[in-house]
Amino acid sequence: MGPVAVVLVAAGSGARLGDSIPKAFVLLAGRSLLTRAVTTAAECPDVSVIVVVAPPSHLDEAAAAVSAARIRAEVEVVVVPGGTHRGDSVSAGLAALAHQPSIVLVHDAARALAPGSLFAAVIEAVRAGHPAVVPGLPVVDTIKQVDAAGLVVATPDRAALRAIQTPQGFGAEILLQAHHAAAPGDPVTDDAGLVERMGIGVHVIDGDPLALKITTSEDLALAETLLERRPA
Ligand code: C5P
Repeated sequence: MGPVAVVLVAAGSGARLGDSIPKAFVLLAGRSLLTRAVTTAAECPDVSVIVVVAPPSHLDEAAAAVSAARIRAEVEVVVVPGGTHRGDSVSAGLAALAHQPSIVLVHDAARALAPGSLFAAVIEAVRAGHPAVVPGLPVVDTIKQVDAAGLVVATPDRAALRAIQTPQGFGAEILLQAHHAAAPGDPVTDDAGLVERMGIGVHVIDGDPLALKITTSEDLALAETLLERRPA
């Protein structure tokens, strides 16, 4: 069983959270989203490398957030500057991997409460032979596709839809190929989307409500409530 690397993308501005600091440094019950995400990734027994992709203007703050995390002695953590779009930030993280791992997980620091059990389930599914694995939850709302004028063009069958989360797990070679094939600034919003384009099957496992993406101040309040309700 080869090593697992985590690319933890935290280079977004977090404009929708309405804060003046990048989202990764926003505090959730006293600890930043980035510190929480690094701690969970580092607790995962299979993980040996974590690449934190931080806003280029906040590399020192990212290093401080990493220092505040609990990290096992065997885990190496590096901080690198991110890019304009999420995909550019993931590519920057992949480029910083000194030794090619066998499995790479890509995770959003914004999903700061994603539990270790979800990391473990994704790794297990990749090890079981799936080249690309994503966690997903059934959607509760009816989703409609709309055009630029706001007119509905389609109502996909809700039963077939999943809201996709991170961490997403990949055989390292496949993820590297997918990113090499993508143009800089590609608007794709997740890494599995790049792998799908290569015609490779993406396997969906059960997601976790705790892996919600903290995007707005309402999400932050919800995450605080979930933390309070979590057994100690
Ligand atoms: O913007 P979005 O909500 O899709 O961001 C998801 C994750 O990607 C966040 O953790 C954010 O920090 C990261 N990101 C990044 N570089 C960007 C944009 C987003 O690392 N340029």
